[in-house]
Amino acid sequence: MGHTVPELKDKSLFIEKCLVNGEWVLADSGEFFEVRDPSNGDLIGTCPEFNTHDAEKAILSAAAAFPSFRRTLARDRARMLRRWYQLMADSAEDIATLITWENGKAIAEARGEAAFAASFLEWFSEEAPRVYGDTIPSSVTGNRVIVTKEPVGVCTFVTPWNFPAAMITRKVGPALAAGCTVIVKTPAETPFTANAIAELARRAGIPNGVLNFITTNRNVAVVGELLATHPAVRKVSFTGSTAVGRLLMRQASSTVKRVSWELGGNAPFIVFDDADIDAAVTGAILSKFRGSGQTCICANRIYIQSTIYNQFAQKFADEVRKFKVGPGFEAGVTHGPLIHQRAVDKVHQHVQDAMTKGATVLVGGERASEIGNNFYLPTVLTNVTSEMQISCEETFGPVAGLFAFQTEKDVVEQANSSDVGLAAYFYTADIKRVMRVAEALEVGMVGVNTGLISDVASPFGGVKQSGFGREGSKYGIEEFIQVKTMTLGGVQSHL
Ligand code: NAD
Repeated sequence: MGHTVPELKDKSLFIEKCLVNGEWVLADSGEFFEVRDPSNGDLIGTCPEFNTHDAEKAILSAAAAFPSFRRTLARDRARMLRRWYQLMADSAEDIATLITWENGKAIAEARGEAAFAASFLEWFSEEAPRVYGDTIPSSVTGNRVIVTKEPVGVCTFVTPWNFPAAMITRKVGPALAAGCTVIVKTPAETPFTANAIAELARRAGIPNGVLNFITTNRNVAVVGELLATHPAVRKVSFTGSTAVGRLLMRQASSTVKRVSWELGGNAPFIVFDDADIDAAVTGAILSKFRGSGQTCICANRIYIQSTIYNQFAQKFADEVRKFKVGPGFEAGVTHGPLIHQRAVDKVHQHVQDAMTKGATVLVGGERASEIGNNFYLPTVLTNVTSEMQISCEETFGPVAGLFAFQTEKDVVEQANSSDVGLAAYFYTADIKRVMRVAEALEVGMVGVNTGLISDVASPFGGVKQSGFGREGSKYGIEEFIQVKTMTLGGVQSHL
C-alpha cells in the first residue's frame, strides 16, 4: 500500500552513512543494508554494514578525542549541549517525520518523542556544570580528604528502535555533560533518525571523535561483542531486550567495564474498586497502546478488581474501538504498524494461546493484513489467567489482557510474580493504600493514578531482570562519572 511521506524541510538531515571522527563515511567493505518502511515495506534507504574493523576505528577515534574533551570546561560542554538542543527543537518536525517513516508510530506520537528526546539535551546541559565533589573530615590526624568527580571515559551505547531518538539522547546527553566520548550503535530498523540527530550534534560544534554513530545489521553480534569488550572502552550502556542485555553483560565482564542496562518490562496495571474508573480507563489506554504497545513500560498485565471488572472492560473496549489503525502519516491515524512481521507473529501467538486457554476477545484479535503485513488490530481480551503466555512474557504489541483479582494482597503477589521489574501502575483513591502498594511493588517506577510516567526530570530504570542504572533526572549523570579520592597527608594545624 502506498502512502505519502512528507518531504524533509532540511533534506541534508537524511544521511545514509556513519559518523566516525566527525566525518560521514561508508563501510570500508562497501557493504550496506536496507531499511524499510514498516507500514508498507517500501525501501527508505541504505546504511553501511559496519564490521569490527570499521567499528574499531570509531572506538579509537573516541579514545583519541577523550583526553582533550575531558578537559573542556563543563560550562563549554553545557553550551554545546544547549546548542544541540536548540537545533533539535528547530528541526523537530523533520525528526518526527523520520521517526514515523522508519518506526511507524503515528505522527502525533513521533512529535512527542522528538520533543522528549531534545529535552534530555536541555536537561543535561543544565547538569553539566553542577557535578560537585566533596571534602570529607578525615579520621586520621593530619589528613585531608578531597573527592573529585571524573568522566568514566569512552562509552559504547546500543539502543533499540522503539524510541529512535529519545533512547539515544537519554544516554548521550549525560555522557557528554560528564566529559565522556561515545560510540552509538544505532538500531538497524531506525538509523536515519539517529543520523539526523548526529548531524545536528556536528553542527552544534561537538568536537570530532567525541560522538560516533555506527550502523550494522548482519554483523551485529560481532560488532556488539567488540563494543562490549574493547580495552579502550570503559562503559557500556544498553537499552533493549533482557536476552541481549544478559549476553552483553557477560561480554562486558571480561574487562570489568561499568555497565547500565535498561531492559525489558512486563508492567502490571492495577485498578482497585475505589478508583475513578474513567480516569483508570484513560490511563490504561495511554499506557497500554503507546507505540502500538511497543514500549518497555507499556502495561502488559491489566488487573481489575472483580467488583468493577465488567464495567471497566466495557468502557476500556469502547475506547479501543475508537482507534484508527493505519500508516502513521495518514490523517486521523492513532496507531501505526508493528516494527516487523516477527512482532506481528508473536502478538498473534499470544492472542491464540490466550484464546485456547479460555480468554474471550472483546475487540480485535486478528491481523489487519488489509492495511499491511505489519498491522495488528488493537485487541482486548477478558478472562485472562496466569496460565497464559501473556501473563509472563512481554507481548510488545497492541494486546490488552484483563485479569480479575479479589484482594490487594493477591494482586500485589501476582504483580510481583515476574522476573522483570521496570514499571507498575495502579489506580486507587485510598492514600494509605497508595503508600502500601507502591512500597510493595518490585519495580523501578510506579505510576499512581496516572498512565504516563516518562519525564526528563524523573529517574528511569528497573530492578530485577529489567536491569539497573537510571537515566534522566539528577541521577542520570552519575552513570558517567567516577569518584576519585585524594588524601593529602601531614597537614599540621597550628594556626
Ligand atoms: P533487542 O535487544 O533485540 O535490540 C536492541 C539493540 O540491541 C538493537 O540495537 C539491536 O541491533 C542490538 N542487538 C541485537 N543483538 C545484539 C547482539 N548480539 N549484540 C549486540 N547488540 C545486539 O531489542 P528490540 O527488540 O530492539 O527492543 C525491544 C526491547 O527493548 C523490549 O524488550 C523493550 O522492553 C526493551 N526496551 C527497554 C527500555 C528500557 O528503558 N528499559 C526502553 C526501550 C526498549
